Amino acid sequence: MNPFVYFIFYAILLILSYRVELRWSLLCSILISMYVLIAQFKRVSYETILFIIFFSVIPFISEKFKRNFNAYKSRMRNELESARMSYDNLMGADKKQLESNLEIERKTQQVSSLYEISKEMSECLAFEDIFDIFSSVLKKSFRFRLARLVLLKEPNDQIDSVYEIELGRAYAKAAPDNFDRELVDVILQERKEILISPMEDSRFSRRLFIIKDFDTLIAIPLISEEKISGILYIENISRVYFENFLILAGQFAIQLQKVILYKKVQEMAITDSLTEVSTRRYFLERFREEIRRSMRRKSTMSFLMIDLDYFKEKNDKFGHLVGDVILKEIALVLKSTLREIDIIGRYGGEEFAVVLAGIAREGALLAAERIRSSVEHSVFKAYDEKVSVTISIGISAFPEDGVDEHTLIESADKALYRAKEKGRNRIE
Ligand code: GH3
Ligand code: MG
Ligand code: MG
Repeated sequence: MNPFVYFIFYAILLILSYRVELRWSLLCSILISMYVLIAQFKRVSYETILFIIFFSVIPFISEKFKRNFNAYKSRMRNELESARMSYDNLMGADKKQLESNLEIERKTQQVSSLYEISKEMSECLAFEDIFDIFSSVLKKSFRFRLARLVLLKEPNDQIDSVYEIELGRAYAKAAPDNFDRELVDVILQERKEILISPMEDSRFSRRLFIIKDFDTLIAIPLISEEKISGILYIENISRVYFENFLILAGQFAIQLQKVILYKKVQEMAITDSLTEVSTRRYFLERFREEIRRSMRRKSTMSFLMIDLDYFKEKNDKFGHLVGDVILKEIALVLKSTLREIDIIGRYGGEEFAVVLAGIAREGALLAAERIRSSVEHSVFKAYDEKVSVTISIGISAFPEDGVDEHTLIESADKALYRAKEKGRNRIE
């Protein structure tokens, strides 16, 4: 038989053995062996036996190879799968890292913008300026229905004023309503911020819901020197803004506290910065004290109201800076002409007031005359200008013209008016 036919048999059997189950390939090898035997029947040689043996082992060799190959394939597949999984994990971790980086970046941006806002607010000393910045940031960065700032009076915690921030318009002064009053009550009891949202049903929500319909509400007490000086509340603000709103409101509260304290300090300041005599407020305090003392001791005292004549003209002619110097100089004249114990105050822009303790009208007239003539004969030098001024003085005496500060001031004011009417540079 042609060896080429054997070769074809080998190839067919090999492919078959690999493709089909062992028993089919064995069957095939038996069939081929039988065919070879029949074909070579007449001359069975050792070659034929070799061929038959060879055909018989092919299925077994092929089976073993197949098994090894399949095991190798599945091992490779597993390795590939685990490589893919670790790649996915790596990608996931990377994504998480990216997300957390973005979150950090967002937070940093928030902090820096908050820092900017706080810095901007910290540079202001007027309530209006701080509130302006706060309300514009609020409107720009948050979604809400309405916000209100309720300021309380000292010391009885009544509502002093209300400012409203509404979307679409600048803040405006508003009248307090029942809701404000109820909220003030709640906050004065709680002394801390309250947060009402559909998820948190607090004990005061019922009280507040009776008056007004809202989805969410945050109310924050503004505490200054351990006293609640106001309340800031915001309605229907989405939950996502809660945290940032609380931070911003906290900053606003600190700045507002600063403004309130600053105002207080200013009001309490006892010395007028320009003239270095008592401020009006401090002067009046001391005036009242002196009246009480005079009453107790049944002694006399006098009050002088001093006003510069035609001072507006001087200002117009020489300028305000020169005017200021004149005011300073007049204060010096007052200090040098009067005794230590006399109280001198800057009552208004260019008005001074004096309390002469233990001095009756006659004595006051003399003192006033000394002042008037001293001013009249003074030439004040200011910024290369030489200026002369005159003053008019109204006098009232305790107890004949009045026994309280109001009547004494009113009486001296009337006298001053008369002095002006009669031609100025006079005492009445
Ligand atoms: P008269 O009192 O004699 O009737 O005339 P007048 O010009 O003084 O009138 P009035 O008292 O109403 O005007 C007060 C003026 O004083 C107005 C303002 O220009 C000036 N004045 C008030 N406060 C200050 C101040 O702090 N500095 C300066 N430079 N001027 C002041
Ligand atoms: Mg005046
Ligand atoms: Mg005047």
